[in-house]
Order: sequence, then structure tokens, then C-alpha cells
Amino acid sequence: MMKKNEILVTYGTDYVNMTEELLREAGLAELIGDRNRRIGIKPNLVAPVLAAEGGTTHPEVVEGLIRYLQANGFQDLTIMEGSWVGDKTEESFEVCGYNELAEKYQVKLIDAQKEPAVTMDCGGLELHICRCATEVDYMINVPVMKGHCQTKITCALKNMKGMLPNSEKRRFHAMGLHDPIGHLALGISQNFILVDSICGDLCFEDGGNPSKMDRIFACLDPVLCDSYVCRLLEYDTKEVPYIGIAERMGAGSTDLTQARILELHAPLHKREEARPDKERMVRLAELAEDVDSCSACYGYLIPALNMLEQDGLLKDFKEKICIGQGYRGKSGNLGVGNCTKAFTHSLKGCPPTEIEMYEFLKAYIKETGRREG
Ligand code: SF4
Repeated sequence: MMKKNEILVTYGTDYVNMTEELLREAGLAELIGDRNRRIGIKPNLVAPVLAAEGGTTHPEVVEGLIRYLQANGFQDLTIMEGSWVGDKTEESFEVCGYNELAEKYQVKLIDAQKEPAVTMDCGGLELHICRCATEVDYMINVPVMKGHCQTKITCALKNMKGMLPNSEKRRFHAMGLHDPIGHLALGISQNFILVDSICGDLCFEDGGNPSKMDRIFACLDPVLCDSYVCRLLEYDTKEVPYIGIAERMGAGSTDLTQARILELHAPLHKREEARPDKERMVRLAELAEDVDSCSACYGYLIPALNMLEQDGLLKDFKEKICIGQGYRGKSGNLGVGNCTKAFTHSLKGCPPTEIEMYEFLKAYIKETGRREG
């Protein structure tokens, strides 16, 4: 049976079967114990985007998990997720193949965006958590190992943000993200973590630039899991403050020197570990003046800027683009999202889409370029 300091890694392209093999090796059935326990399965369906784009959990991984659990006598299984603010979970369920999966295996599917909230004291911080997450006996987290525009990485700890009502997701951003994510580790205990590291986007949370790694790994400790992801993506754990906060809350350990990383199979092809383009991310982020923006809003702005850069439109563009809840009721020149609606140049939407931001900023850059020229 797997131990808390272990990380079990496998590689391959037959995602259903390699997931089942990994779970057998981990001894998940023994870890769960009582066959009558209510099991929650939390994938990452941030937006209605196919898993091949690198932003959402492959349904094949969840299928392997369900097959393993049902074969071992577990029947009370519920997949639960709430997409980010601005997208509907029900569309994500459909596009990402989860309606079909739930139907095929007769598994319950809960849209957390429609769930009532329960207030919980999480290490001295009161948080509002979707009821479904508080009603399971054993939570299996199935995040994608990805990059993130605001927090650099997202995997086990941050994936639980999908178990918050939309109003609470916005409040998390107003609280600076890291502190509440760290505290959330106490509100929802993750019993088992099955990481989809098949082709996560190492820069953008909603995908679009997948990096093929064909890897799945399992952990019991969400803090250790995210520390391992930091190592893989060459970030110091301190660069992602919520990991240290979760450790201080008692949710796990960042100490990789005590970790045992066990590979079931070697990688299919010997190749360099994929890395995020950090310089590009810093360059694009410097153009955004962010005060408490929501994930979707900021997560659309950076890829929109990326497209503008690829079009060669950012060469002489030095102006800051304001974004976030901190601009509500304030005036300024250039902003995106309803929070900046009092600005001279503001794009409506909560959030506006990536394409809307791209078109709006492109028009603005061309217009100001014409005036200055
Ligand atoms: S407009 Fe404001 S509230 Fe709406 S998504 Fe953007 S930052 Fe969040």
C-alpha cells in the first residue's frame, strides 16, 4: 500500500489501462477500505476545452479510475466540478466527454456551480465551500499538471478551487489567492491525488499550448504533490506561496528530500522534460496591471497578449492594461472587464473572452499608433 511520502509515476499512451495499473500498484482499494464509502472524484474542467488542448483532465484517466473502483466493489461514486467564472460547468461536462462517461458507468455528476455553500472554519479563515465536497467520505482529486498565469503552477491544491461557489472564487482573488488556497487544504481533505500529466499547458490554465509528456502520477500528500510539480517545472516552492501556507496549515510536506519517487515504467522516449516559457510569461504579465482579477479574466488576457505579440503588435506598446476587481468604481485609461467600466477605454464582459480582448486591444493599439504616427 502506498505511503504518504511516495509519488508513483507511470508513462504511456493507453491512458485507461495505465491508470488502472497505477491504482493497483498504489493499493487504492485498501487505502479507501469500506466499500460503502461515498467517493468524490474531482477532475479539472476549468472550461469547455478538450483535454488534448492541455487545460482539462482526460476522461480516459477518470474512466480508468472508475473502472478500477467499480471492479473493487465501490459503487457510490460522484464526479463533481465547477468550471471557472465565465464558463458553464454543464458545457464543460458535455465538451470534455464527462456526460458520456457518467452515462456509460452510471456515475453521478454534480455541477458544483449549482450547489449551495457550506461555511467552514479553515485554520482561522472562514470559507464557503460547495456542499457536495463536504458530503463525501473519500475525495479523489484528479488535477492536470499545468502552468498558471497568476500562481505559476496549478495542480493538487489549487484544483480544489473548483469546489467553491462563483462568488467565493471571486472573493479568493480579492484575498490574494495564495492565502485562501492554502487554507482551503484544511476545508477539503484530499485523500488521493491522481495527476493527469499527459499534455498539460505549462503556461496557460485553460490550455491551447499542450506539452506532451504522456505521464500520470499518484500521491497521497497534496503539498508534496505540488512541490514535485514545482521541481518538474523548475520553480522554487517559495515562488508559489500557497504551497508553503498549506504546509503550515498541516496539510502536508514540501520536503522532497524525504520523498520516494517510484517509476512503474520508464518514459516512452528519452527526452527533455517540457518547461514553461518563463521569460515570455513575465514579458506579457508586465503589461497587465492586475488588482484582484479573477482567474478567467486574467487567464484570457495573457493568451490574448500572446496572440498580439505573435502578430508583432506589442513591439512599441508600453501601456498598462488594468484588470481586476480592485478597479471597480475607479477611473483610468485602458482596462478590460466590467470592473474597469468607468475607464476611458474599457472592454465590457465578466469576463470578456480571449478573442474579445484580442480584438479590443488590437483596435486600441492600431488607433493609438495612428494618432501618434
Ligand atoms: S470583470 Fe471583474 S469580476 Fe468579472 S471576471 Fe473580470 S475581474 Fe472578475
